Amino acid sequence: MSCELVNAAVSHQLRTSLTSIQASLGLLQSGKVHPESDRGQRLLDIAVNNAQRLMRFTTALEADASLLGSGMPAANLARLRLESELDAAWEYQEFEVFYQPIVCTRTNRIVSFEALVRWQHPQRGLISPALFIPVAEESGLIVPLGEWVLEQACRQLRLWQEQFSTPEPLAVNVNLSPRQLSHPDLVERVQQILQRTGIAPKCLHLEITESALISDSEAAIAMLHQLKALGVQLYLDDFGTGYSSLSRLHELSVDVLKIDRAFIAQQQWSLVCGILYLAAGLGLGVVVEGIETPEELERARNIGCYRCQGYHFARPLGAAGATGLLRRYNGQACQPNRPQGEDWQCKSCC
Ligand code: C2E
Ligand code: MG
Ligand code: MG
Repeated sequence: MSCELVNAAVSHQLRTSLTSIQASLGLLQSGKVHPESDRGQRLLDIAVNNAQRLMRFTTALEADASLLGSGMPAANLARLRLESELDAAWEYQEFEVFYQPIVCTRTNRIVSFEALVRWQHPQRGLISPALFIPVAEESGLIVPLGEWVLEQACRQLRLWQEQFSTPEPLAVNVNLSPRQLSHPDLVERVQQILQRTGIAPKCLHLEITESALISDSEAAIAMLHQLKALGVQLYLDDFGTGYSSLSRLHELSVDVLKIDRAFIAQQQWSLVCGILYLAAGLGLGVVVEGIETPEELERARNIGCYRCQGYHFARPLGAAGATGLLRRYNGQACQPNRPQGEDWQCKSCC
């Protein structure tokens, strides 16, 4: 990297962080925003996160003085830039919640929507959460962001429940990150959101990944028990890709396993069958992710997966698009698509 470019990159780093700190503290100092209010707390978070970023940046420069001369690796610079842009995105409310349906393939009805956050970047357009969630996780922004997603999703669910009546009420699945899971206020915040939005706890499905349980598993398991005591359902996301210690499934008190889409993409149907067998033995439900084609849906149905999610049904959509889907799938009387010769009842939607 040329010297001019390095200077520009370093001064960009310093300027964006300092501007965020200056703007946040300036608003607090002006008295227009009370430090104890939600917005005040967000502004403080932004100031602290940016100060920490400056500290990391300085430490990196001190540790390797040649960085200034030879140029910091482009990936590091891009990451630092993403961090500061994310804070600004939070302040300017550039996030949106998208929804992807989970369908009961016996009745062809939507039983839940997974809430998936998107970042509507003013220049770069929609940015995938796979790119920015790890950064938000590291900086701590995931805590207020995740809470916001949860509240939006519950509000939207309330609207749908009022608009579309189903024998069993529609539910919403919301992802919880490891950092959220270790936050001491989590249970209280979830409870408050349920109360504010009037959502029955059983209609809220919280998704956690196995990796969230590794770092401080005792504390995480205690948190899961407290969440469970609220009456919400717990889903183990991306199941089969992490460090699944099968013997621990019981103590995690999860209700449902979400089989990772990699199994479907690689057509590993015998492994899917194995997981179904395991789940049945433990009394757990199963959702299969990543159903992209009619053939995969048929295959899933044939081996007894009746809760599916994937592009075959729909990609994640904004609230208006998801409402259109609900009208299409759940707008008419339930018409069960019974597997031949099987005596069954779909508990969730029939
Ligand atoms: P996830 O929770 O496993 O969500 C499913 C991801 O798979 C979504 O990606 C979805 O768009 C994608 N997907 C669904 N069906 C198909 C399919 O048929 N084929 C393929 N190839 N992909 C499919 P997305 O929206 O990009 O989210 C990626 C990950 O980011 C999520 O994985 C989740 O771990 C994380 N994430 C998204 N929103 C949030 C959030 O609000 N909070 C937290 N903590 N994490 C989130
Ligand atoms: Mg998920
Ligand atoms: Mg998943």
